[in-house]
Amino acid sequence: MNQSSGPVVVIGTGPAGAAAAVFLSRAGVEPLLLEAGSGTAALGLTARVRGLTLAKLRRPLNQRSDLTRVGDPAAELFEELAPGGLSNHWACAVPRFAADDFEDAARAGEAYTWPIDYAELAPWYDRVEPLLNIAGSSVDVPRLPRGRCADHWALGADWEPVVREAARDGRDVVAMPYAYGSKSIATRSATAFNAFTRLVKPLARRGGATVRYDTQALRLEWSKSERRVVAVVCRDVRTGSEVRIPCRAVVLAAGAVNSAQILLESGSADFPEGLGNSNGVLGHYLHDHPLAKAVIDLGRLVPLAPASYFTRPTLAQTTPLYAAACMQWNSATSMARTFIEGHPGVTRQLGFSLFGTMIPTVDDYVAVERGRPSAERAALRFSLRYPEAAIRELERTRDDLLGALERAGWEPKLRVFKVEVPGNSVHYGGTCRMHSSPRFGVVDARSRVHGVPNVVVADSAVFTTGPEKNPVLTAMTLAARACHHLGQDLRAGDL
Ligand SMILES: Cc1cc2nc3c(=O)[nH]c(=O)nc-3n(C[C@H](O)[C@H](O)[C@H](O)COP(=O)(O)OP(=O)(O)OC[C@H]3O[C@@H](n4cnc5c(N)ncnc54)[C@H](O)[C@@H]3O)c2cc1C
Repeated sequence: MNQSSGPVVVIGTGPAGAAAAVFLSRAGVEPLLLEAGSGTAALGLTARVRGLTLAKLRRPLNQRSDLTRVGDPAAELFEELAPGGLSNHWACAVPRFAADDFEDAARAGEAYTWPIDYAELAPWYDRVEPLLNIAGSSVDVPRLPRGRCADHWALGADWEPVVREAARDGRDVVAMPYAYGSKSIATRSATAFNAFTRLVKPLARRGGATVRYDTQALRLEWSKSERRVVAVVCRDVRTGSEVRIPCRAVVLAAGAVNSAQILLESGSADFPEGLGNSNGVLGHYLHDHPLAKAVIDLGRLVPLAPASYFTRPTLAQTTPLYAAACMQWNSATSMARTFIEGHPGVTRQLGFSLFGTMIPTVDDYVAVERGRPSAERAALRFSLRYPEAAIRELERTRDDLLGALERAGWEPKLRVFKVEVPGNSVHYGGTCRMHSSPRFGVVDARSRVHGVPNVVVADSAVFTTGPEKNPVLTAMTLAARACHHLGQDLRAGDL
């Protein structure tokens, strides 16, 4: 096979890989998806009626064990090597980033400035959201733009005093957007939206993509003479043997940690420290959302659904890159409790996840442990710490939440407040960050690795900063945009 021929290879079938495959296919390029997991993995069951979850079965989520922790010794690193990746476990919350999130990053200085802004991403959100069948707010607020939803939700009149009081702290309160949020479904996936079941499988059935299971990408092969990547070297998980797959281009969508690991393992004479790592940025600036859980008892009954979202405050009320938002839980268990307590659908207790931010730094990272070879893949050195400022911001947000509920007359009493260990949000990002300068970033504004024009990074590894919003929708949107452009360039012979 000619070196410049071969398929466009997408590594991973999680949300980012699925969006990449759909948009490559739409651009007229049929990708080959490599999936480390097995095609026959039984992944669960979800049954819902009009958004109300009746049954859910899923297998436990595993932590990576091949780690040397050099940051917080309690930090956690989860992964799911299976079709659909972590979308076998996720909660399906899909907020857009807002214009403020990009401005917040820019005011923190050059190292944190994204090379794109919200106006650039908005039309791509519009194209990706229909894939997710979102039920979300019809209200557009500055720090949570309204998405292109299939169904609309609004918080009821009970919430009006809370909305008014939260506004005094610069926060908006709206209904949280969820993928398949108000649909009736029965699926053999553990979540309402599994990226593999919802997007990859139907695309492959239509002939728009091919999936190769049990194929773990190990490294990319760089050609010095052609100045591009010419093959993906993989491990056949069933036999343990190495396989070389020639390719025209590669889209990395193995999750923020595994995508970085593949690049780190792709050393060559031109890139001795890993592909795209000429400036030592690769693997660094790792971030996750500092997370606290709060359970609040109320002096009155309030509707449990739809779930509410207390946004971050205005930029003027926060220091650069520090903010947090509150996402109300709306689980099957909390709904079941309202039935057991004899007041279906209304509750005296609300639970929230408080997602905050951390300034990404070079001190938080994943790196390959050269001295610990393994038959499967190299072990990792892993550093993740929450700065004190992040914890203070979570506490301030808890106090703002309690204050707004108190002034609204809901008589809140804090029953539980627990800050989780770093990594517990499982919202990893930043390891192949996007920046116009290779001094601060691994990929450029179109998600291509600096100096390596035929490699795209499609997952949240490219986040320059980690705004407090859940990452999947934005990762899929960046993947869609990057793969649309990649497809066009490939068809034009422009790589
Ligand atoms: C309990 C829980 C709740 C969550 N809730 C939300 C939420 O509500 N909203 C939200 O936005 N996010 C949520 N998340 C986070 C979200 O699930 C992840 O951010 C998202 O799945 C990442 O997508 P991805 O495609 O980048 O990576 P992944 O989902 O991790 O997928 C990576 C894929 O790559 C494959 N892979 C990995 N390495 C290789 C390799 N070397 N070769 C071949 N294949 C490989 C994997 O098998 C997998 O298919 C949640 C996570 C958890 C655990």
